[in-house]
Amino acid sequence: MVNSMHPTGTLIWYYYICPREVWLMSRQLTPWQENPFIEIGRLLSEEAYKRERKEIHLENIVIDLLKTEGENVVIGEVKKSSRFEKSARMQLAFYLWRLKQLGIEATGQLLFPKEKKKIIVTLTKELKAELIEAQAQIKEIIKMEIPPQAQKTKFCSKCGYQEFCWS
Ligand code: SF4
Repeated sequence: MVNSMHPTGTLIWYYYICPREVWLMSRQLTPWQENPFIEIGRLLSEEAYKRERKEIHLENIVIDLLKTEGENVVIGEVKKSSRFEKSARMQLAFYLWRLKQLGIEATGQLLFPKEKKKIIVTLTKELKAELIEAQAQIKEIIKMEIPPQAQKTKFCSKCGYQEFCWS
């Protein structure tokens, strides 16, 4: 099970896609790695923004990019598609919040290299409240004995668990 049940950025990401994925990830049931979409995502995140790349590991968070723009600290998350924009936005907000708790004020950039798109994310009161609720829900999901029921969504066709859920 996920270490000490502290929601991580990855679990925040999955929560906004599918609660069942949160449970499966928490049991370290790794999705099918040959799923082409997972592979594309991994390649994109490895290749894109190489010049700026400076992956940072801090407690339970991994930040794709970190740079300074004048006085400002900027962290970036590289994503394959804006199809998962809500998840990506909340994951990045979670990182901004954790950094703030560590005394680092930062702003965020969501980067979609394939779409040449960039979205600025700042930590607002509303996002923080939403994250608190999401963390509570994630803890409840992880505590469950069995995974939440599979629900067909637009994300299933590209999910590494689709064989597990729907075959
Ligand atoms: S296949 Fe669908 S229901 Fe199953 S974990 Fe993935 S998104 Fe959730």
